[in-house]
Formats: sequence, C-alpha cells, structure tokens
Amino acid sequence: MQLRYTAAELAFRKALRAWLAETLPTVPPAPDRDDWSGRRAYDCAWQQRLYGAGYAGVDWPAEHGGLGASPTEQLIFLEECARMRAPGVGAGFVGLLHAGPTLIAEGTERQRARHLPGILRGEEVWCQGFSEPDAGSDLASLRTSAVRDGDSYVINGRKVWTSFAQVADYCELLVRTDPQAPSHKGISWLILPMETPGVQVRPLRNAVGSDEFAELILDDVRVPAENLVGAENDGWRVAMVTFSFERGTAFIADVLESRRLLQETARIARSSPGPRGEPLWADPGLRRDVGRLTAEVCGLWSLILKNVSEASAGRVPVQGASVFKLRFTENRQRIGDLAAQVLGRAALSVSDLPGADNSHIVEDRLTTLAYTIAAGTSQIQKNILAERALGLPKEPRWTSR
Ligand SMILES: Cc1cc2nc3c(=O)[nH]c(=O)nc-3n(C[C@H](O)[C@H](O)[C@H](O)COP(=O)(O)OP(=O)(O)OC[C@H]3O[C@@H](n4cnc5c(N)ncnc54)[C@H](O)[C@@H]3O)c2cc1C
Repeated sequence: MQLRYTAAELAFRKALRAWLAETLPTVPPAPDRDDWSGRRAYDCAWQQRLYGAGYAGVDWPAEHGGLGASPTEQLIFLEECARMRAPGVGAGFVGLLHAGPTLIAEGTERQRARHLPGILRGEEVWCQGFSEPDAGSDLASLRTSAVRDGDSYVINGRKVWTSFAQVADYCELLVRTDPQAPSHKGISWLILPMETPGVQVRPLRNAVGSDEFAELILDDVRVPAENLVGAENDGWRVAMVTFSFERGTAFIADVLESRRLLQETARIARSSPGPRGEPLWADPGLRRDVGRLTAEVCGLWSLILKNVSEASAGRVPVQGASVFKLRFTENRQRIGDLAAQVLGRAALSVSDLPGADNSHIVEDRLTTLAYTIAAGTSQIQKNILAERALGLPKEPRWTSR
C-alpha cells in the first residue's frame, strides 16, 4: 500500500487548487432546490467549465475524451472540489459515473460517438431506470418487458425511484427480453430516449419535500433495436459493469461534509444554553459522542485511502466499498441525530424558528435517511460481506421466478 503523493500528483493538486480559486468566485449561487430546469442548467454549466479547463471525466480514459487520471488523482480532484465547496456532479451523476463508463466498456462505436461527447460537455443528462415497484434489492426479478418488433423494441412496464428523471434526456433501462429464461438470463440493457412517446414521468415527493425522483410509466414505448447495449439477454452482466463504477470515492465530498457537520454541531453546542443555563457543551456525554463520531469519520477517511490505494494497484475494492457504504451511511445518520439533539426544538422544522441557522442541518438529516437505502441497502451490504468477505453460506432465495 502506497499512501504518499508523487511529485506529479502534488503538481496536479496545485494546478487544480489554483484553477478552483480563480473560477469559484465567478460561479453564481445554486438555484432553488425544486427549480428542476434551473438545477439542470446550473449543473451542466459547471460541467462545461470543467470541460473547458480539461477537468471533465477525471476517471474516463483519455481516448474517450476523459482525463485518464489515476485513482489517486481522482481522489485529489474530489477532495479539492469538496474542500473548496465547488458544485457537485448533480444532474450529471448517472451520465458521468454510470452510463458513460458503461458505454465505454460495453457500447458500440456508434453509441459511444453519439453519447460520450455530450455527457462530458454537460449537454446530455441521464437517469437510471433499474428499480421497479416490486424489484429493488432483488433487481433480477424485474418485470418491465421489451418485445422485439422488426428494428425496434416495444417496452411496457413501470420503474420507480428514478432520480433526475424529469430533466434527463436518456435513461439506462433494464428490461426483460426473455420471460421464459431464468431471471438473470432474460434481461437486457437499453438506451431509452426520455422524449419517446409513451414515456410518462410522475414525480415522487420525498421527506424533505423535494421531488428529486420519479416513477416512470412505460406504455408501448418504441425504441430502436440499435439502442441495445451488449447482447440481448446479457443485460444482467452489463448491469454489473454499471454497478462496478460505483466506487467508494464517490462519497469523498460527503465524508468531508460529515467532518464539517460535526464541527458545526460542536460550535452550536458551545454557544447554546443547556437545561441549567450552562452551555450544552458542558455535557460529557455529548462531548464523548462528538469524539466517537469524529474518530469514526477519521477511520472512514483511512478506508477511502486504502480503497484508492487498492484501485491504484489494479484491484477492485469490492469488500472495502461495501464496508465503507455500510459504515459511512450509518455514521452520517448518527451525526444527523446528534445535530438534531443539539438543535432541540429547531430540529423539528426548517421554518419553525425564523433566524435559527438550522434549515440545512434539518434538511441534511432528512436526506441522510435515504443513504442506507439508495445504491444497495445496509442489509444487502451485510449479505455481500457475509458471503464474499466472510465466506458464509449463501442465503436461500425465496423468489417465485
Ligand atoms: C434517494 C434514492 C435514490 C434512488 N435513485 C434510484 C435511481 O435513480 N434509479 C434506480 O433504479 N433506483 C434508485 N433508487 C432505488 C434503490 O436502488 C432501491 O430503493 C434499493 O435498491 C432498495 O430496493 P427497494 O426500495 O425495492 O427495497 P426492498 O428491496 O423492497 O427492501 C425492503 C427492505 O428489505 C430488506 N431486504 C430486501 N432483500 C433482503 C435480503 N435478501 N436480505 C436482507 N434484507 C433484505 C432491504 O434491505 C430493505 O430494508 C433510489 C433509492 C433512493 C432511496
């Protein structure tokens, strides 16, 4: 394991830091949370600036227009952007982190030429249509069907939890193309243009009051057969390629944010009166909780470095990624709970106490409730670790298919 930075990596950090310092003051404030077209435009504009400066697609190979950066340089990129509070990937999440890399690995030349430049330049936004109302953790039991009809597939079914669906141009869609085959063998991966007739997007409202994901109703949707990525009925393997791009490094900004939240919680506790008039910070239990959670955040940061180091050595940190996902998301929820405890009544509503600087903490806490579900629940991460890391017997399958 090599955790020291090379001279080239230090130079990369210095140049990036200088570019961010010069660029960020000219970035306008982010639009309102529910201004979807504004948010798309804002996220795409930031991506265009990264593109112009040569920082688009840090983890994409150079021959496909990316930066071809090493895992360590990717870490530096994400760390610097988070440290200087640069805009995140936002609406570009699926295109840049899942769909683009999947097309690089599995797409045809034509599909790559059609989509990769637009994703990198922030002109093309994608969403992910994998989950269904009855198929989330047990993804292989999905039912949305695609039937070949001449040069097209005709798609019928429903998808759910599709983040950014209302502003996406394309969807990476998993469909069942062979209903007779065993569940994993009859699935295909399709590119769905969201403007196709028969695609209906119904926004879903979450606990924060935002409709950042939606339900997709697909009713006789006709998609050209050339939009198939990989072979017909080989979509499960292609989906696993898509999942393999979800790396522990995607959470780097969140770990830095955890640190910031803990510092903010301590700051509020120092200046807020406790039940007997002394500052809340006088409570040794509270100080112990802050210390314990801070130690965990430091441990998570070390795990990120270990995962990056393994990736640099050409190994895929599957177990490290599952340990990280499990511990990080649960730690983040505990930080939210502690912040809520310190805020007291102000934690009950974003608008309850005018003037109290509580709204982003309250929103953050509600948002983190989803972290242990999205991208594979905690229970599923535990199953992965039990089976793959500890070698315990595989759990019995109860599905009817
Ligand atoms: C914020 C957010 C954004 C999302 N964005 C997208 C998106 O853009 N595109 C997309 O396709 N999906 C998206 N999802 C869906 C997400 O991938 C699923 O919610 C997740 O995979 C869980 O599936 P489910 O909701 O069907 O729960 P279920 O699979 O029904 O699980 C219900 C409960 O049972 C547990 N459970 C299920 N099976 C097992 C088992 N074998 N062993 C132990 N426990 C088990 C689960 O852990 C969970 O606690 C998003 C979800 C969230 C919360």
